[in-house]
Amino acid sequence: MTSTLPVPLPVANAVTTQTPRTVAAAQVVIDALVKQYDNLRALAGVSFTVQRGEWVALMGPSGSGKTTLINILGGLDTFTSGRISVDGVDLAKLSENEVVRYRAEKVGFVFQQFHLVPYLTALENVMLAQYFHSSTDEKQAVEALKRVGLGDRLGHVPAKLSGGEQQRVAIARALINQPKLILADEPTGNLDEANENIVLRIFRELHDAGHTILMVTHDPDIARQADRTIELAHGHLQFDSAQHGPGHPLHCPLANTGDCCTEPPSVTTVEDQIRFDHLLEQIWICSEEIKPALISQLRVEGPSGRLPLITDEPTKRVLTRMSEVALVKLRDDEAQLTPMGSIRARDVVRRHRLAERLFKDTFAIEDSEAHTQACKFEHIISPELDQRICTFLGHPTTCPHGKAIPPGTCCVNIRHDNSNGAK
Ligand code: ADP
Repeated sequence: MTSTLPVPLPVANAVTTQTPRTVAAAQVVIDALVKQYDNLRALAGVSFTVQRGEWVALMGPSGSGKTTLINILGGLDTFTSGRISVDGVDLAKLSENEVVRYRAEKVGFVFQQFHLVPYLTALENVMLAQYFHSSTDEKQAVEALKRVGLGDRLGHVPAKLSGGEQQRVAIARALINQPKLILADEPTGNLDEANENIVLRIFRELHDAGHTILMVTHDPDIARQADRTIELAHGHLQFDSAQHGPGHPLHCPLANTGDCCTEPPSVTTVEDQIRFDHLLEQIWICSEEIKPALISQLRVEGPSGRLPLITDEPTKRVLTRMSEVALVKLRDDEAQLTPMGSIRARDVVRRHRLAERLFKDTFAIEDSEAHTQACKFEHIISPELDQRICTFLGHPTTCPHGKAIPPGTCCVNIRHDNSNGAK
């Protein structure tokens, strides 16, 4: 069922030594990317860059926008606004023909479903890809299949190959044009453990050979093999390991504390923290409800009324201070969360909804009172207490009103076991 990988994989642009990871120029630039489907915002202003040769794991619950992002990057889908460029090519400016050429020349796709033509052999499937790129070259196609350990399966049709072998044919096919960018959407999602290991080993070799890889995965163990993890939630960039120090784990337990390497130094007073948290929470809820967070509709005092001990300050002024410490970006009348703001907003929302669950379910406190108490409680729950409450409650996924409770480090594995959902 499985075979070994005899030959090192090809290097992008025929370079034969490992590409240094320190190259500065970003290969992929994504800036305020929005994808709107009627009244649904699949991507709500995502921004990040990817360096040449980087391996990025793209994570996030179902429906968070991962596939949409990969498809846009690969020129398979268009976007509503923002900017995206690959190797200096601005994708929005390409004509239809140029998009086809961009796909053929720069991008290699590997999907969860292998998308092989069922009546063609492994060799013919790879040669078909060659045909679309330029012209067929049987010797080169055989070499590509040998590189993924399938030299003895050239004449097999997909039905006679195992899932892992079919995926390796798909990888050989994706590599035929020496793509600068490999886009993989859950490439091991349909594989057993042995085949998953083989496919991951191929990706590691591609990475060592200098290819840039963006890989959607739900599996934290796979993500850990990448250089960097980016997490989406509700179309927002929720977490980017590149913005944390090298020692930070996937879900940084120090986020929101004075020890976090991304903590803005100029947030000083408790009052400021509370004001900021209330606004972050409201912006997060707007994105859940798929509507823009209009500055004119945000309120410093938060949903439960005026905050005790805190003097009034106009919303716009607080938001401006929040933008100075990189928690939000202000565009016209709209406030958007930055990656750091997203992390913090998620934590506040999580604490609030966990507290509501605790008050409602455990202490049988009625709905509106549970909400009011949660507004106060969310500011005093430490990360440790948050995890203990969550564990005590059995890692609930929704608050009493049915809204999603963002997962914490304590429930990530548990929720993944339960099919990755945030429901
Ligand atoms: P993920 O890959 O993270 O599961 P997707 O990118 O597939 O998420 O989807 C993001 C959101 O966009 C989801 O709510 C999904 O239902 C919606 N969506 C995706 N494609 C379409 C489409 N063609 N039309 C309308 N909504 C879509």
